Amino acid sequence: MVPPTTTSQRGAKQRRGEGQWALGYREPLNPNERSKKDDNPLNVRARIENIYAHGGFASIDPADLRGRFRWYGLYTQRKPGIDGGRTATLEPEELDDEFFMLRVRSDGGRLTTEQLRVLGEVSQTYARDTADITDRQNIQYHWIRIEDVPAIWRKLEGVGLTTMEACGDSPRVVLGSPVAGIAVDEVLDGGPAIDVILERYIGDPAFSNLPRKFKTAVSGLQDVAHEIHDIAFVGVEHPEHGPGFDLWVGGGLSTNPMIGKRLGAWVPRDEVPDVWAGVISVFRDYGYRRLRHRARIKFLVADWGPERFREVLETEYLKRKLVDGPAPEVPAQPRDHIGVHRQKDGLFYVGAAPIAGRVSGSTLVEVSKAVERAGSGRVRLTPQQKLVVLDVAEADVPALQGDLAKLGLQTEPSPWRRGVMACTGIEFCKLAIVETKARAVDLVSTLEKTLADIVGDIDTPVSIHINGCPNSCARIQTADIGLKGQIVTDADGAQVEGFQVHLGGGLGLDAGFGRKVRGHKVTAAELSGYVERVVRAYVAQRVEGERFAQ
Ligand code: SF4
Repeated sequence: MVPPTTTSQRGAKQRRGEGQWALGYREPLNPNERSKKDDNPLNVRARIENIYAHGGFASIDPADLRGRFRWYGLYTQRKPGIDGGRTATLEPEELDDEFFMLRVRSDGGRLTTEQLRVLGEVSQTYARDTADITDRQNIQYHWIRIEDVPAIWRKLEGVGLTTMEACGDSPRVVLGSPVAGIAVDEVLDGGPAIDVILERYIGDPAFSNLPRKFKTAVSGLQDVAHEIHDIAFVGVEHPEHGPGFDLWVGGGLSTNPMIGKRLGAWVPRDEVPDVWAGVISVFRDYGYRRLRHRARIKFLVADWGPERFREVLETEYLKRKLVDGPAPEVPAQPRDHIGVHRQKDGLFYVGAAPIAGRVSGSTLVEVSKAVERAGSGRVRLTPQQKLVVLDVAEADVPALQGDLAKLGLQTEPSPWRRGVMACTGIEFCKLAIVETKARAVDLVSTLEKTLADIVGDIDTPVSIHINGCPNSCARIQTADIGLKGQIVTDADGAQVEGFQVHLGGGLGLDAGFGRKVRGHKVTAAELSGYVERVVRAYVAQRVEGERFAQ
């Protein structure tokens, strides 16, 4: 699949040391690359079914355990009781528990009520009733035993769900608008393009050994954080050709955040899968494989620039020119789909907020029943860790709202419940330094009391994103208030859990990353008081309609 050498490749000779396949650098330059070359990671499924599920945790080859398992959504979870101050000092095997986190793909966040019920039942049976809605629009379990994985796959696959390439250096779950196909104001429905990508390319060995993970977003609305994806297709109306997608590449967060670049190309919906395959092929062949921290496509795009990237894509992969296209108009406010909204067919969708995506298997089962009682069979998960019920008749909306509220899913949440996101954190994540989910719950319940007097003054959302370490699974750089977990020194000189504060990040209008505020580190104990002061200052000083990021 590697193309012949061309002009663009010759111009990049100096980068040979980056381990780019297209420059002939096929010998693995680090252990991750070695592991992927030794055996296609997709082959690990057969070993799980035939060996590890019978032999138990102790029988697992370490190269599978900490590498190839990810291609099926499996990560070892953190051993309980290890404090965050020791995270960086321990070897991986000292942090490994014998239980796993497991992510299930739900591309575009799309689920039927039957799928939702089965997701819940799997959690009840095999995952100690854990289930988190992640900001990748999928469900993540904890406490999974390797012995149970084949049975879990059978249950999930029985309703059309899979864990294939839910993680790993592969094309991960595709984000899509939670209201695709029903929103009155979408440019077009991205769902059919997502379906073709899944059908053709997920599980295709041609794309199962990438330099690093590859995150895709396809949306006819700007509601999927497209600016921070490896590739994104954003709905736009072309003045001559009509509705289609604007192509972005090279966005990403983590420790080197970058906003994606527009290639200036307009892509009709039925060409999205081919263009997607072209871009991921550029990444596979030219991506930097020597150092994992430079392996995401954003580094290649930053070095090449969008013009050269587009030229290589067109010349070497698509073998044709793309159509030039306009930039999409940026909406004034971010969209999270919370509340009750009319669909284009006259029915309604109802968006509800758990706190920071934390639900449970039992909750998912009960939600599926409530949704069916309301006459619907469709649910969508959102990139803000929320849940949307589609296709509800107006008369059934109040009863559904009541049912969801009883399950802790509020359809008219406080700004804090609505705006808080949190990553997995120290409860289960081996890289974590601090607790996140439980802290988000505490923060919301405290702010709902302490800021009750100014709730009426807040007419724009205030996003508060909490990360357990410097990685950015909860997108801290894009939040109004971003909190990066670290060990800090408290007033008594003790080393305690706390956060580095980033303020004023955002996507959409004024897309940009929050600024690290010098000296703004808060201990976990001071967190709610700190956020209260920041929000009060914002409300007191803002002019009407001013967003936090401004
Ligand atoms: Fe784990 Fe860090 Fe990601 Fe949180 S941000 S889930 S602590 S790697």
